[in-house]
Amino acid sequence: MAKLKLALYWASTCAGCDVAVVDINDKIFDLFELADIVFWPVALDFKYEHVEAMEDKTIDVCLFNGAIRDSEHEKMAKLFRVKSKLMVAFGACACFGGIPALANFHNREEIFRQVYIEARSNQNSAGVLPQSSTTEEGEQLLPEFYDTVSTLAQVVDVDYFVPGCPPPVELILKVVDALATGQLPPPGSVIASDKTLCDECERKKGEKKITRIWRPMEIIPDPEQCLLEQGIICCGPATRGGCGLGCLKANMPCRGCFGPPPGVLDQGAKLVSAIASIYQTNSEEEIARMVEEIVDPAGTFYRFGLADSILKRKRI
Ligand code: SF4
Ligand code: SF4
Ligand code: SF4
Repeated sequence: MAKLKLALYWASTCAGCDVAVVDINDKIFDLFELADIVFWPVALDFKYEHVEAMEDKTIDVCLFNGAIRDSEHEKMAKLFRVKSKLMVAFGACACFGGIPALANFHNREEIFRQVYIEARSNQNSAGVLPQSSTTEEGEQLLPEFYDTVSTLAQVVDVDYFVPGCPPPVELILKVVDALATGQLPPPGSVIASDKTLCDECERKKGEKKITRIWRPMEIIPDPEQCLLEQGIICCGPATRGGCGLGCLKANMPCRGCFGPPPGVLDQGAKLVSAIASIYQTNSEEEIARMVEEIVDPAGTFYRFGLADSILKRKRI
């Protein structure tokens, strides 16, 4: 069988998704048996010109991690879409915007002011801000920083979604196996479970109502009991399963990195609804107190999914 041609690209990313690929340990040799890597900026010194010079659809699979933050990311997403038969959104940032998309609670002007002017570590008395071009030493172009972070699918057509921050090793191996055998699910599929995380979680649930919200470091939770029913916000009801329950096994709540389960349009709204259904109160004062107890509501409800939510970004 002819070897596949595989490209890996990183856009707005922490590189954890690239590390996750390396983390498959000796199975990486199976990957090299299966595929020739034709682009992987974190590991190999290919240039953009090499991709541009390829015939269209030369690349069999592009694993694209990271969100779309600037014009370079968008340009590369479009280039890989043209050059690749299959485009895979790899990791929470590519699938849903991920952590980088939390910046959508601010606009470009606010981000530049904070990062380049107000941050205490700055020495920038001239107030210089990033530019997309300069004529010093000839014309130089730099990527344009967008006002809004987007998901990969908001920029190009995506064939498959592999969620997780980063995708767990078992899931990456499943993807490699599916590529090797050609047994891929229908285009547009999310390669994970079709259940919610709660469906897969073995903790005791459905018994308790809550009267207050705790942050994880404020109590030591019962490892057998549902965390949400102990008052710790756990995104399980609003999150797709298939991650292997790593956080729950460490007695920590889910933060939602597998994105919404099938049929759920907005992960944050679903989680709010789940919390409201088990919160026991008879008064507006108690509701107001509970809302105060949620220290970072935006980051709690939309930690990984803001760009992919109905809200998408701050409106003013
Ligand atoms: S999904 Fe997580 S690990 Fe992957 S690039 Fe984004 S933040 Fe990093
Ligand atoms: S809310 Fe969290 S702890 Fe409770 S059942 Fe769902 S995944 Fe498990
Ligand atoms: S438990 Fe939630 S946050 Fe943790 S890995 Fe699974 S989906 Fe991601």
